[in-house]
Amino acid sequence: MSMRAASECRGGNACGILRFYGKETAMLRIGCHLSSSKGYLAMGKEAVKIGANTFQFFTRNPRGGKAKELDISDIEAYLEFAQENGIARILAHAPYTLNACAKDPDLRQFAYDTMCDDLRRLQYIPEAMYNFHPGSHVKQGVEQGIFYICDLLNRIHAQSGQTTVLLETMAGKGTELGRNFEELSMIIDRVEDKSRLGVCLDTCHVFDGGYDIVHSLDKVLEEFDQTIGLHRLKAVHLNDSKHGLDSHKDRHEKIGEGQIGLETFVKIVTHPKLRELPFYLETPNDLAGYQREIALLREKAEGERI
Ligand SMILES: [Zn+2]
Ligand SMILES: [Zn+2]
Repeated sequence: MSMRAASECRGGNACGILRFYGKETAMLRIGCHLSSSKGYLAMGKEAVKIGANTFQFFTRNPRGGKAKELDISDIEAYLEFAQENGIARILAHAPYTLNACAKDPDLRQFAYDTMCDDLRRLQYIPEAMYNFHPGSHVKQGVEQGIFYICDLLNRIHAQSGQTTVLLETMAGKGTELGRNFEELSMIIDRVEDKSRLGVCLDTCHVFDGGYDIVHSLDKVLEEFDQTIGLHRLKAVHLNDSKHGLDSHKDRHEKIGEGQIGLETFVKIVTHPKLRELPFYLETPNDLAGYQREIALLREKAEGERI
């Protein structure tokens, strides 16, 4: 069903409305995390197969390490395929082991080198965004941690192209930075070129971080707007949470099987302030599971978006 819809959508980025089984429907931009081991075209095909019209991927082994050689012919083939099939706004995720605010200068340098290299490679995919975890200050204190993150972002911006970099909202495990909207706002305030900076809201992380999106979604969005500015919100990670509000645990659960619940996800993907954003599932699933979640959210959401 979504394959048929996608094949009718030839407007690339501009395609928001399409004819969907005879009804005018605003189309949900939704996908999941896919393995990048076989390249971009393979991810594009996989996305279409499971009814997705976007996707997220790791730029390299999530534990760090060297990225594969860039395959320009694969990228060209992907870009054409994406255009034909209405895939857009894909999201690259930095290795989660990078720590931009590590105490050890070698680790900070490693984070800088890796991110610069990722951003250099992403210039070949003009509409991709790049998401990263701000890092853990590991007892150096919030101020020092934020100083290192901003220093890294300012140096990266001076070096790299136009890719928008997203700070992910974190659950606040250990000494993770980005545990609340204030910390993200402090980082954004000190980055010189804010035009290439945004935020990716992870539903599991904010819920674990104490924001009650289940009972007070509007209030949470208002707080986000007042502290960070909703114009900075560029992407949403859709994950249910194994643990409860304010648990700071960061354990993702399948949609509707955790403490957040399906009803809240429907509210999120249909919310007037969120529904135009791209949504990425990072739930504990195989491809068939992702396909089911995408179909479920499309069915629930697109019914309400007409
Ligand atoms: Zn993440
Ligand atoms: Zn996430």
